[in-house]
Amino acid sequence: KLFNEVQELKGNIRVYCRVRPFLSGQDKKSTTIDYMGENGELLISNPFKQGKDGHRMFKFNKVFSPFASQAEVFSDIQPLIRSVLDGFNVCIFAYGQTGSGKTYTMSGPSTSKQDWGVNYRALNDLFDISQNASLHSVKSTSDVLDLMEIGQANRAVGSTALNERSSRSHSILTVHVRGLDLKNGSTSRGCLHLIDLAGSERVEKSEVTGDRLKEAQYINKSLSALGDVIFALSQKSAHVPYRNSKLTQVLQSSLGGQAKTLMFVQINPDVESYSETISTLKFAERVS
Ligand code: ADP
Ligand code: MG
Repeated sequence: KLFNEVQELKGNIRVYCRVRPFLSGQDKKSTTIDYMGENGELLISNPFKQGKDGHRMFKFNKVFSPFASQAEVFSDIQPLIRSVLDGFNVCIFAYGQTGSGKTYTMSGPSTSKQDWGVNYRALNDLFDISQNASLHSVKSTSDVLDLMEIGQANRAVGSTALNERSSRSHSILTVHVRGLDLKNGSTSRGCLHLIDLAGSERVEKSEVTGDRLKEAQYINKSLSALGDVIFALSQKSAHVPYRNSKLTQVLQSSLGGQAKTLMFVQINPDVESYSETISTLKFAERVS
């Protein structure tokens, strides 16, 4: 219900937050998360400040706690994904610093079924409910998995001080769906983009130089261009600055208009990630 109200207010943009758990071996870490509310509230505490100034509240359409399963997350967004069959264009993004769970949400930690992320579940669901599905280049989820593995292997993986295998590129999986209504013969075309964005961490932190620095600046630029586009859409501005990055150009026809956008804002609860968490949440605050 809240979701529908927000939809009416903000158009077709919704922002979900997902907090990842501490990983095994991390149990002595302390958390920046004070409270996660059922109506999408997230209270963050500043490890460097005490008292009332030490807390900040953020509000999302929904917050998924560290206990949320992949199936739970998917069942929430299933109607959104199915709307592609009715001819809607849909973009689902995962945004956050390296290590915050973007790939976990979009692809999952392994290819075993209970671990499947949004990508696999979405494709499986679309193939499931359209048995007569016929696409030109793929015929099954496993074909897509193969394609995605090739895509993964082609991703630029750079070594930075933050994370040895931090992926310094955006990964976009696009599915075109053509629907045929057997009752009246009408056809529809929808497009689903599933996007695992490059890590949003600021350049200085990664201690990078040379080509790596250029790459990091390019990533920061494309992420801020994406933020600008979503912000312009949420404000219903007359001018939407799609042309400021390749990412927003590629997604232009699926951002705005009748298209639907969902952003997963991924949070690493570790106090050491506090400043990145705040900058991630500020990005989210602007687009939601
Ligand atoms: P990113 O893609 O943002 O760099 P990853 O998805 O690779 O981050 O997640 C970092 C680590 O945290 C991985 O080991 C991943 O399996 C784990 N992780 C992330 N989210 C969750 C979650 N919701 N539950 C359990 N483990 C998670
Ligand atoms: Mg990743």
